[in-house]
Amino acid sequence: MIPMAATDLEQIVNLCKRRGFVYPTAEIYGGFRSSYDYGPLGSLMLRNVREAWIRPMVQQRDDVVLIDAAILAPPAVFEASGHLANFTDPLVDCTNCKHRFREDTLEDPNTCPNCGAKGSFTEARAFNLMFKTEAGPVEGAGSTVYLRPETAQGMFVNFANVLQTSRKRPPFGIAQVGKSFRNEITPGNFIFRTREFEQMEMQFFVPPADGPKWYDYWCATRLQWYIDLGIPAESLRLRPHDADELSHYSAGTSDVEFLYPWGWGELEGIAQRTDYDLKQHAAHSGQRLDYFDPTTNERYVPFVIEPAAGVNRSMAAFLLSAYDEDEVGGESRTILRLHPRLAPYKVAVLPLSKKDALSPLARKIYATLTERYMCDYEDTQSIGKRYRRQDEVGTPLCVTVDFDSLEDGAVTIRDRDSTEQVRVPIESLVNEVAARLGF
Ligand code: ATP
Repeated sequence: MIPMAATDLEQIVNLCKRRGFVYPTAEIYGGFRSSYDYGPLGSLMLRNVREAWIRPMVQQRDDVVLIDAAILAPPAVFEASGHLANFTDPLVDCTNCKHRFREDTLEDPNTCPNCGAKGSFTEARAFNLMFKTEAGPVEGAGSTVYLRPETAQGMFVNFANVLQTSRKRPPFGIAQVGKSFRNEITPGNFIFRTREFEQMEMQFFVPPADGPKWYDYWCATRLQWYIDLGIPAESLRLRPHDADELSHYSAGTSDVEFLYPWGWGELEGIAQRTDYDLKQHAAHSGQRLDYFDPTTNERYVPFVIEPAAGVNRSMAAFLLSAYDEDEVGGESRTILRLHPRLAPYKVAVLPLSKKDALSPLARKIYATLTERYMCDYEDTQSIGKRYRRQDEVGTPLCVTVDFDSLEDGAVTIRDRDSTEQVRVPIESLVNEVAARLGF
């Protein structure tokens, strides 16, 4: 069944707030514009998104390794990468209402979308998106450092280290999941664009002649990842960049785009970074960043194919796609039809009554299931209400322990999507849950 994806961002924003997925940052102080904290369920879901990426990108391959590089980096890194000179967006001010805009996102470059004034924009200024701070205890006397605007530079500056220590040979990849920071001119659309966010990036190093082949491979593989995790194919497309859109390092980029409630927008970029970064870092550091192929006796600088995705942005797309409203027994319900791998809780254990008689058995079942899965335990309110609550946060399975369970050693499993209920012996419960979740 294809869910009726949320058509209105507010539906997701409200659900996220109400059920503990996402809160505005520093809300008790009035919030902090376009910044969010992830609550009990949101933090679990973020972790699931990361793990759902690491699994096929690293764990299930023998040609990709994972690293975790520092967020703070010295200027030399971004001098070499070109970010200090080029990582800019064109900023314009409306001289009438004083609002600021990214020029390249204006529908009409002559009309202010805020106040409607014509020809009121200043000349565009190149605004560098990197956050700068100082390291050292004395203000003003420290050395300038930058918060990384992408995780990718960590892979390039560690290329030689990884090559030596991992014994990988091109074609091979270095992957990383971690926070990046950009001083975005116009953050917004909830968690779609924030100044602090998390990326999942992989640099795949290949012999130069094989670049195009691997670029096609990664475009197709990355698009399929979103489909496999439940986003309908018709809400996704692969869009090649026009030449004037390309980043300073790119010889070709395609975006995986998603149909957000406000239109098509980027989910992930797959870029051919050529040998640009390794050559730049080799030139600036004086270190050799290339590969000697002993089978051909050739030395070359590998080309890089980079799939770069966002953890938070993916989470938004998964939530929007999973959102659905339907009717069960004449009552309407809100449901997140999340893929089991992404759902914060896989199983909710629900003793029918709060009475002491049921809780030892229910607790035991909970303890067994939590050895393998993140689960919830709820023993208050009517069972119908508890099912609704679990549907709304996307829990694929509910296990109900009732008074018969004490006699027949069986429990009821309820499926989130079909609401079908089946009686299962407790001794085969873990296997049954694994079969239904698929892991
Ligand atoms: P955009 O055009 O939307 O600004 P970008 O092309 O600058 O994105 P990339 O540099 O390709 O983005 O970054 C790779 C991925 O990182 C993006 O596809 C997105 O998922 C994520 N990302 C980038 N910037 C942000 C942000 N400000 N907030 C949340 N996620 C982001």
